[in-house]
Amino acid sequence: MKDIVVVGAGALGLLSALSLAQDGCSVLLLEAAQVGREASWAGGGIISPLYPWRYGLAVTALAHWSQDFYPRFGEALFAKSGINPEVYVTGLYWLDLEDQAKALAWAVRHQQELYLVEKEKVCRHVPALDTSFKQAVCMSNVANIRNPHFVKALRAVLDRMPNVEIREQSPVSGFLRSGEKVCGVIGAWGVAKARRTVVAAGAWSGSLLKTLCLELPVEPVKGQMILYKCAEDFLPAMVLAKGRYAIPRKDGHILVGSTLEHVGFDKTPTEEALASLKASAEELLPALAEAEVIGHWAGLRPGSPDGIPFIGEVPQYPGLWLNCGHYRNGLVLAPASCELLKNLMLGETPIVDPTPYSPAGRLGTL
Ligand SMILES: Cc1cc2nc3c(=O)[nH]c(=O)nc-3n(C[C@H](O)[C@H](O)[C@H](O)COP(=O)(O)OP(=O)(O)OC[C@H]3O[C@@H](n4cnc5c(N)ncnc54)[C@H](O)[C@@H]3O)c2cc1C
Repeated sequence: MKDIVVVGAGALGLLSALSLAQDGCSVLLLEAAQVGREASWAGGGIISPLYPWRYGLAVTALAHWSQDFYPRFGEALFAKSGINPEVYVTGLYWLDLEDQAKALAWAVRHQQELYLVEKEKVCRHVPALDTSFKQAVCMSNVANIRNPHFVKALRAVLDRMPNVEIREQSPVSGFLRSGEKVCGVIGAWGVAKARRTVVAAGAWSGSLLKTLCLELPVEPVKGQMILYKCAEDFLPAMVLAKGRYAIPRKDGHILVGSTLEHVGFDKTPTEEALASLKASAEELLPALAEAEVIGHWAGLRPGSPDGIPFIGEVPQYPGLWLNCGHYRNGLVLAPASCELLKNLMLGETPIVDPTPYSPAGRLGTL
């Protein structure tokens, strides 16, 4: 019997498995399809909430811990896996924010380097930018991570650990129980017993908890994204205006996103979103009108109330743990969330106050 079975191999499941396995636990990671091919692949990889000042302390605490952790973690992952997750510190400009005063006040309160920048300075730094904006604020230390490489690097590290087993094409359909205690999972492929079970199934986590007659308020929120390939120096910083953003990768790929759609589990990219994202891209960076869209995809964010993830044990079912519901911020919040999960599971001092993330009192019954 394994110490821990983790359900779902997105960023949260992979990193939960890694944190626990590094501390000596034996871990079985079960993935319904392929490792890291859902939201954690589809996302933009900005290592910051899009509008950090619009979130409460619960999201901020995890974001700040992760932001400090990412640069050295990225290097360590590269060294161990040979795959570079490319933590790329470009900074982020917000143009014509309607709540700029709130953003600046938040920065003072949280001692964050977010400040007003003169328009000329922004245009000099990012010459491709359309010049019709009036004002800009910047956080020069914000990075992005190349999330498809990140999940591959995590997998490569896990593959080399003798106490970790990864099984793909192994959807979990329910839980093994002894009374109220959860002691593993079941699927059409068989059963897997474990001392503790972690649900990290992203947007699908709620469907799994329904089998226990529990209502977990995590629902899919579709996001579509488009991709360009430009010269490496075309876009030296991330830019965000009117809810749409452009993210440069080191090799000149530019991602433009994203839509927010409540359409269930449908992941089909649409012509309408393509046209709308193209229009936003060209409004922000006019030269993109001459560039070809070389990719267009959609992913399902695990939407949760106020974007506050569920991290902790389910009181009604001892042995059942959650690490899900990271909504728009799963990549930035992943390191802190998985460290906190490990702290709680192994009886360590938690890195942050775990109370806001606890499933206790946040789940309904069906
Ligand atoms: C367009 C878009 C842009 C985004 N941009 C950013 C950003 O810039 N920064 C940021 O921090 N976040 C961003 N996000 C959000 C981020 O991608 C998600 O919050 C994060 O990836 C969620 O990770 P996860 O591991 O919980 O879910 P997922 O990556 O979806 O992984 C869940 C896994 O569980 C598996 N699974 C599901 N059900 C079962 C089952 N029954 N049995 C076994 N396995 C199962 C799935 O197949 C999947 O592989 C973005 C998301 C989208 C869609």
